[in-house]
Amino acid sequence: MSESHGACSVLGLPVNVMSNYSAWLLERLQQGSGGHVVTLNAEMTMQAERNTSLAKVIRGAELVIPDGAGVVLYLKLMLGQKVQRIPGIELAEELLRSLGAENKDNKVFFYGGAAGIATKASELWQQEVPSLNVIGTCSGYHSPAEEEELRQTLSQLQPDVVFVGLGVPRQEMWIDKNRHLCPQAIWIGVGGSFDIWAGQKTRAPQWLANNNLEWLYRLYQEPWRWRRMLALPEFALKALVFGVSQKLHISQSLP
Ligand code: UDP
Repeated sequence: MSESHGACSVLGLPVNVMSNYSAWLLERLQQGSGGHVVTLNAEMTMQAERNTSLAKVIRGAELVIPDGAGVVLYLKLMLGQKVQRIPGIELAEELLRSLGAENKDNKVFFYGGAAGIATKASELWQQEVPSLNVIGTCSGYHSPAEEEELRQTLSQLQPDVVFVGLGVPRQEMWIDKNRHLCPQAIWIGVGGSFDIWAGQKTRAPQWLANNNLEWLYRLYQEPWRWRRMLALPEFALKALVFGVSQKLHISQSLP
């Protein structure tokens, strides 16, 4: 990842801080340079601690956005950086609207989710933004042969933006392995966004999100997530230890 676009570090992983991510992505699209967008939160940061391949992919991404409240709080407390939280789903929505408004016939592909979900999400988006050009969709559960077919389709169609909703870390690893198929495309991992766009799930109410409690709503909706969510206190503890060690390091190096 280039140091030139506001790169900060969260427990050794990069985060880009900028005022308008979708404008940056549209510019990149115009230049035909493409790229991988990662939406970083505390849970993903902890997964990357244990999964070095995931950490490597995050470090190699062209854009890493501060998706989670934990990451934003970390940047504020540790680095004194006041950063706005950008949920991945909101960046994806802004990008879809901008792509429609641009009227440049940018081609979009939706990949992921249970059977029919990506297609339903694309239909709803086409209704909302009629000028949006969704050229194809594919569910996220299939055989190796169907996956090969998908790879061939992507190679032939050469979409400009590929939204991949397979969950973390599957989507990041999949994008890394396959982005060479469409080197000029923007590839963005969108987790369960197709489920939300298709009306299968709902996002947390704004007042919970405003109070950094979106995780509580997810836990209520998907109680099986409790084990994955242990990553949140683990992240807080790691951040605290890192902060204390940084302070000790600074005070020891003072004359
Ligand atoms: N999914 C998929 N293929 C798989 C596993 C998961 O398409 O093999 C989809 C799943 O249907 C859901 C999304 O990936 O739509 C994962 O959503 P989640 O909210 O769990 O994502 P995360 O929290 O990991 O970003």
